[in-house]
Amino acid sequence: MNKFMRAYTLTLFFLVFLFAISACAQEVDEEREWVPEDTEFYEPVPPVIEAQPAFLEPPSDAIILFDGTDFSNWKMLNGDEDVEWTIEDGVMTVTPGSGDIVTRDNFGTVQLYVEWRAPAEIEGDGQGRGNSGVFLQRRYEVQVLDSYENETYVNGMAGSIYKQYVPLANPASPPGEWNTYNIIYEAPEFNENDELVTPAYFTVIWNGVLVQNRVEVKGNTVYIGLPEYSAHGDDGIRLQDHGDLVSFRNIWVRELDNSPVWGDNLPWPEY
Ligand code: MG
Repeated sequence: MNKFMRAYTLTLFFLVFLFAISACAQEVDEEREWVPEDTEFYEPVPPVIEAQPAFLEPPSDAIILFDGTDFSNWKMLNGDEDVEWTIEDGVMTVTPGSGDIVTRDNFGTVQLYVEWRAPAEIEGDGQGRGNSGVFLQRRYEVQVLDSYENETYVNGMAGSIYKQYVPLANPASPPGEWNTYNIIYEAPEFNENDELVTPAYFTVIWNGVLVQNRVEVKGNTVYIGLPEYSAHGDDGIRLQDHGDLVSFRNIWVRELDNSPVWGDNLPWPEY
């Protein structure tokens, strides 16, 4: 190999090396500055379904979280004991600017039933119209939004797992009328090293319509960037103050973690 060839080969190697480094850097992409719009999608638009709220009375084994009388099962998310939201005629309503509220008790895997209502008087649009949210274990949001003829990113409409999953349909009640959420939530499991062993799952039935079919949660609900898990145990159910006069009533939960009735050990006869 002559001098020229050696220099040429070395240069070539060097260029390949540089290329490899830049490709790696792109793959890791730690420099990326995420903006909210990176995780907001406008398709597919779920079909509008005409449906009625599927009102349910609490079954005998339900833990009543709100029966219309008081906030005894709730506190402010910031730790304050006195809930600053209002109660009128058996209905609780967000006090805009006061903050989120959370149950005093912590829960794992549950069935959660909630009735919610966006204000009759339409104010704002998109995410600024009747926005609230139901968070399981404080972290994972089933979005509450006035999604009646109100365009926004579809992974942020009512019935979405916020910024993760689009609902399968849009059975929204008109503003000022009640909606029902029947949520089956499976808590994630972490090992002793705080690593994720089993992700969380959501099944959501909105106004009697299946809108989330046991979807695998990608991690904590985040507004900007990608969701990630961080280890946690049982935690409270949280309702969001997003600045809008959203109301809730008739909230109850059934704990499922310790159910002895899984049915996977039935004494089948030999066959
Ligand atoms: Mg929300």
